Amino acid sequence: MEAAIQTDLQSEIEAQRRWRLLEKFSGAKRFDRLVENEFRDPEEQQARTDAALQSVIQFAATEVPYYRDLMAATGLRADDIRTVADLPRLPLLDKVTVRHNTQALQPGKLPLTERLHGVMTSSGSTGAPTRIPHTRRSVRMFSVLAQRSYRWFRLDPMGTFAYIRLADQLPRRPGRRYNRDGATLRLDRWRHAGEFFETGRWIGFNVTNPVAAQIDWLANEQPRYLATYSETLEHICLASGDVTPAESIAATMAISEQLTPAMRRRVEQTFGGPVFRPYGLNEIGAVATRCAAGRYHVHTEHCLVEVADEDGQPARPGTRGRILVTALNNPAMPLIRYDTDDLAEAVDGPCPCGRTLPAFGDIQGRYSRIAFLPEGTLTMVGAVRSALEHMPRALARPLRKFQLHQDQANHFVLRLAVASPLDADFARRILTAWREAGADRDWPLEIVEVDDIPLGPGGKFQDFTSDHMPKADEAEPATPARVSP
Ligand SMILES: [Zn+2]
Repeated sequence: MEAAIQTDLQSEIEAQRRWRLLEKFSGAKRFDRLVENEFRDPEEQQARTDAALQSVIQFAATEVPYYRDLMAATGLRADDIRTVADLPRLPLLDKVTVRHNTQALQPGKLPLTERLHGVMTSSGSTGAPTRIPHTRRSVRMFSVLAQRSYRWFRLDPMGTFAYIRLADQLPRRPGRRYNRDGATLRLDRWRHAGEFFETGRWIGFNVTNPVAAQIDWLANEQPRYLATYSETLEHICLASGDVTPAESIAATMAISEQLTPAMRRRVEQTFGGPVFRPYGLNEIGAVATRCAAGRYHVHTEHCLVEVADEDGQPARPGTRGRILVTALNNPAMPLIRYDTDDLAEAVDGPCPCGRTLPAFGDIQGRYSRIAFLPEGTLTMVGAVRSALEHMPRALARPLRKFQLHQDQANHFVLRLAVASPLDADFARRILTAWREAGADRDWPLEIVEVDDIPLGPGGKFQDFTSDHMPKADEAEPATPARVSP
């Protein structure tokens, strides 16, 4: 399903030529420089990112009270952090610390060449959001890098792009009003990439519309690309009986939330095209984009990424660690070693795709969601997902959504939202898979059929919930911040 895995400078230059800059940007070279950066010699890559890091550290250590105090407390000087390899000498910066130091993390004044653009809030699923002021340069990089991702995905810039998201993540209506359910937002050009390039139309629809309405909407609008949450893609597949709602859709883009290999297979089969994955955060902007070889390449023009173990040191290749991001373009609030709470696999060696931008492997969920689960929990969750994926089509037809819940005593309930009653064979197959996966555990599974499954906090759907998970975001950091000598 993926496009050809390997690429090189020449084919990316040709792909970039298919994008026509708007008149007012004609002759701009920044997009050509992005292409060149993707294939630089790794040592030169390293030298460039180290230089960018040094200037962020210098600024933070002199102008930002939080970092001034931190350096004083640890006896470090700005010159002690010269390369990415030196970063573990600084502690992690988690969301709670950012929330408690919103003022101290901002400089007394911005450099003369910078302007404040606005404040981004991170989408905490409960509790107070994290508020991050961004400079104009930092915000603009999001649009610049969005186009890089679309080029990697080989999207046709003149196609229609459809988004299904929460209303507060879509553009506002006149008067700053949120889009209503049932209504379609329309733009003449794509969001973000359309700020610089000629593109086709862009349309938006609320994810809070019923799945059947989303399917009708896609069938009517006939977009070429669809971007929405991983779970929403899966719900559309289930509700449409694994038949694409619109033959026009050539590719989908899964934004935020985890996309398991089983979900990816189902979505690619149903829509008959690849699922693309950018990775970003409101606190930072665009962070990385997944290439056809399955690695997430970091946008080093905008940020640096470490995959760190429990001690904040580099995770060994092949093992899982926390994704830490250092922002390079936002002096309004320099975030250094920001703990995203996401986990990814550390990788090593050159990527088969040919790009030399540093990379990390598969994103494996949120630390705060899985850190406190009893051993074996994810095996059992995987057994249910796999049994559902392999369910014969005729049996699965009534299924619309599913949600597995684990209570404190490790009793599990699988809720199945169905359009009509399921055949008894459906439950039998799941219980068989459950027993086989958990032969050494005595965890009961109850299966119940329901009409619908309500959305979680913040309007997001989770297909697995557990009483062992802390209430997201309100949790204090699991480990105290550490400082290496
Ligand atoms: Zn790659």
